[in-house]
Amino acid sequence: MHCPKCKGFMVSERFTDFSLVFYAWRCINCGTIIDTTILQNKKRPLIMIGDLCALKV
Ligand SMILES: [Zn+2]
Repeated sequence: MHCPKCKGFMVSERFTDFSLVFYAWRCINCGTIIDTTILQNKKRPLIMIGDLCALKV
């Protein structure tokens, strides 16, 4: 897998967020982290609510 930002090499890494443990891809070149939640959110369209921009549910 290659980084979408710099095309660098990405490695699978284990992360912890309090009690949550998850695996994500981290670019060894620029440090960009991509996990499944980030990828899913990027696929969801943005909608405008007044002056605010939000992810469509
Ligand atoms: Zn990168």
